[in-house]
Amino acid sequence: MHVVDPSYEIQDELDQASLVIRLESCGRICYKSEEKITKDSALPFVKKIAEHGHNSVMEMAVVTLRVHCSAEQFDAFLLVKPTYFFVDRVADGMLVTGSIRSFRELYQRAGNIAPVEAMVSFITHGHPYLFEGVWDGGHGLSIGDSIEVSKVDLQEVEMLPAHLLARHRFCGVKFIVNRAVTHEIVRHRPCSFLQESQRYCRYSQDKFGSQVTFIKPMFYQEGTEEYALWKKAMEDTEQIYLQLLETSTPQAARTVLPNSCKTEIVVYCNLVEWKHIFSLRTTPAAEPSMREVMIPLAAEMKERYPAVFV
Ligand SMILES: Cc1cc2nc3c(=O)[nH]c(=O)nc-3n(C[C@H](O)[C@H](O)[C@H](O)COP(=O)(O)OP(=O)(O)OC[C@H]3O[C@@H](n4cnc5c(N)ncnc54)[C@H](O)[C@@H]3O)c2cc1C
Repeated sequence: MHVVDPSYEIQDELDQASLVIRLESCGRICYKSEEKITKDSALPFVKKIAEHGHNSVMEMAVVTLRVHCSAEQFDAFLLVKPTYFFVDRVADGMLVTGSIRSFRELYQRAGNIAPVEAMVSFITHGHPYLFEGVWDGGHGLSIGDSIEVSKVDLQEVEMLPAHLLARHRFCGVKFIVNRAVTHEIVRHRPCSFLQESQRYCRYSQDKFGSQVTFIKPMFYQEGTEEYALWKKAMEDTEQIYLQLLETSTPQAARTVLPNSCKTEIVVYCNLVEWKHIFSLRTTPAAEPSMREVMIPLAAEMKERYPAVFV
């Protein structure tokens, strides 16, 4: 068995990557198939994911748009109740941030609303593969509907005033933590999540070293009797798990795996939600293993965005 420390990583590199690379990189965490990433693998991976309806992968990239439209068009957009979007009125229109999934599903539901068509048409133009099977060429915006859409890139988002920055800046963080921590994190509903799957991952395979990985419990010091007891429980469990895999599937064998099991999870949300998460998950009332990763993460976020994390 492997025992590792918990950790986290703000996904800065993916912020600079293209949409499909971002989606692939997050999506492969479920299968732990990162070794299959090549310079050409992102597009086919994302197409397959979209075809198979693994829609939560499509939540892992957001697009921010500036839409120049009339007050009536803005109202028409709000009337369709665009869920999972962040929308703000700005000087001559609106600022809209949504994930690829939210744009896909909004178009399917309300593609006849001019600002929706204009935005999806704009994104489709640069990334047709993201809307395959969804984009039907549009409904033909009427005269008088003239709407201008432009992309607000990350650099520009970072320059927004604090109240808009907090709503439109999405940050992804990859955690390597135990299953008890992931179980708690996923209660934060406004976030998108992708998590290593114990159904798809067969830890008896070579790529996992034919071993189960556990997170070192912060409660027990190495060298103590308690730590020795914990270690024995993990070793015994691993042995039983591997034995069960000889005759059954990972989803059946995983029923014996404990909370200490190592899990990778990507949490993706805006700064408003990160602030809310830190307010709940860094206090003395929070679970200590959760605080172990959230306290340093909160400090790092505060350093990056002092105007938001006051
Ligand atoms: C110390 C601690 C102990 C806990 N103990 C337990 C426990 O014993 N049992 C248990 O089941 N859970 C427990 N939880 C989890 C807790 O109940 C929440 O589910 C979790 O913290 C998510 O927080 P949240 O609901 O405030 O916000 P999130 O889900 O992060 O949502 C963020 C914000 O979005 C809004 N929002 C999201 N969804 C809705 C909605 N459907 N309706 C209205 N507003 C919404 C709210 O404004 C909310 O503040 C505990 C959490 C902590 C921090």
